[in-house]
Amino acid sequence: MTIAEKDQLIEDRVQSSRMLGRNKSLVLHGGGNTSVKVREANLVGEEEDILYVKGSGWDLETITREGFSPVRINHLKKLARLPELTDSQMLNELVTHQTKASAPVPSVEAILHAIIPFRFVDHTHADAVVAISNSVNGDEILKEIYGDTVIYVPYIMPGFDLSRLCATILEKELTPEKRGIILLHHGVFTYGETATESYDRMIELVGKAETYLAEKKTPGSTVKQYKLPGDFTSGLCALRKKIADVAGFPVIIKRADDAKSMDFCNRSDVAIISRQGPATPDHVIRTKRLPLVGRDIDAFAREYSNYFAEYEPLAKDRKTMLDPAPRVVLDPVLGVCAIGKTVKDATIVADIYDHTIDIILAANAIGGYVALPARDIFDVEYWELEQAKLKKAGNLPPFTGEIALVTGAASGIGKACALSLLARGAVVVGVDINPAVKDISSDPSYYGMVVDLASEEGLISTIQQTVFLFGGLDMLVLNAGIFPESSKVSELAYEKWQRVLQVNLDVNFRLLQEAYPCLKLAPKGGRVVIVGSKNVAAPGPGAAAYSVSKAALNQLARVTAMEWGKDNIRINSVHPNAVFDTGIWTEEVLHSRAMHYGLTIEEYKKNNILKTEISSRDVSELVAELCSHVFAKTTGAQIPVDGGNDRVI
Ligand code: ZN
Repeated sequence: MTIAEKDQLIEDRVQSSRMLGRNKSLVLHGGGNTSVKVREANLVGEEEDILYVKGSGWDLETITREGFSPVRINHLKKLARLPELTDSQMLNELVTHQTKASAPVPSVEAILHAIIPFRFVDHTHADAVVAISNSVNGDEILKEIYGDTVIYVPYIMPGFDLSRLCATILEKELTPEKRGIILLHHGVFTYGETATESYDRMIELVGKAETYLAEKKTPGSTVKQYKLPGDFTSGLCALRKKIADVAGFPVIIKRADDAKSMDFCNRSDVAIISRQGPATPDHVIRTKRLPLVGRDIDAFAREYSNYFAEYEPLAKDRKTMLDPAPRVVLDPVLGVCAIGKTVKDATIVADIYDHTIDIILAANAIGGYVALPARDIFDVEYWELEQAKLKKAGNLPPFTGEIALVTGAASGIGKACALSLLARGAVVVGVDINPAVKDISSDPSYYGMVVDLASEEGLISTIQQTVFLFGGLDMLVLNAGIFPESSKVSELAYEKWQRVLQVNLDVNFRLLQEAYPCLKLAPKGGRVVIVGSKNVAAPGPGAAAYSVSKAALNQLARVTAMEWGKDNIRINSVHPNAVFDTGIWTEEVLHSRAMHYGLTIEEYKKNNILKTEISSRDVSELVAELCSHVFAKTTGAQIPVDGGNDRVI
């Protein structure tokens, strides 16, 4: 095999893997894997058979050449003949028999790929096949559909034992007329001499299952109108608090309230059909073995502990119980609630459950859904390899799972606050009347909302939307405000005075009121930070409306801190001064202000006791830290960020 031929094979492998990955009914979030077998020379000129197999941590949809790990085939084949191999031994062998040190860890199904004697091998957990396999007469139906054209492998946990079992079965049953392998309750393997052949067989086999289901499909749902009750927001916050308490960490909730999800949650038999078990072993780690139907989280936790107590003594190694909180909640009012530590995690759970609903409904239409026995599910959920992966993900930033709302986030201090909170792992909703707020970050944990907070409607919907999108509200940064042009009291128009007080004071008063029920239910305690001003302690002539609004806001914060302490909500203020890296301070304005005081721009910027320049980021880092455990025992405080000012000190 020439280098060019080998490169072409790998390129074909990348392309058809991506095609599989784009089809969400075949492959979801890192599920499924593919491989290609090539011959290549090593540095001393010896030719070797190498398996390029998907590495863990890569998604088929976006995989590149770097996502495939090259492993020596001969060694893998020898391993398949061993009577026994623990997961960690297997992993060690996979990693130490790669030919590239920097390659990702090969898929745990690498041995299985090696023993299938075809150049290209594709593996998916196709919804349709899994749905049929998980139905009452699944085995018979599969035989009716595929007859002798495929090899059937009974369910066994993924990993070495599955590879070994397949090796034995393939030896006897792999004949030219077999077009693929069906792993019961798990998925499909196809193979071929070209990437296209293997891919086409996958589409053909899965297509047959899809056609079978389509013919049996029960009529679609009657899309009912599900009405949201008035206490929807606090109901969702309360659910999140309860889950976080049981889990031991704050969580993000992604809701699905489309017609399919709502109909499913409102079925009279939802508790029965949803609680048979997960669709494939691949899903267990993300969704746990069962969803919670309704909101009795304590009952779920008890049930989960009992399940652990029942199966743990049968497990090979001693395990520690995972947190007993649900990952999916099916509620007739809230819809399908997917739970995760991060937006990404919750989104994956949401996607998996969306497919689980399809699978359950499809299986239900052909006689009823049955999942694996609880013992098998336990083995996957407490699989040492998966637990090791979870442990590795343990080092998360401090605000992981928490939700912050920042007003005036399109620019300046507000934007900096959003970024400082994001950097600490929080989900951030940035609000501004300026549409630029949508684009200040491309982080999936950021959501920009264009809202006029001066309207009562906009203000209420801001809090509601935040809770609808992520499940709650933990931190509120009240930064939005206006600084009108200088005007003496004797000349200040009453409308202007009113407008400044409305935006800088009334809006914040109403936001505090609306956020209160949510902040009260923040798992780690609610936190409010108010961006005040040096003018509170040291006002200047010509800024009456602004100084009065900020002073009143300051007093509001102090009173609120006293009232809400019992609810474990902390409220602190920062008082910045002379922050020049914001939109209003153009070179021109700076120049004219500096001239006014007879200073150079440089002197004017550093006109404080520490002779230092203050940036938006200096302010935002303090704001974020005020929300952290460092200030866990501080409330009602006011902290200047002004380089030191002798009128304030
Ligand atoms: Zn699999």
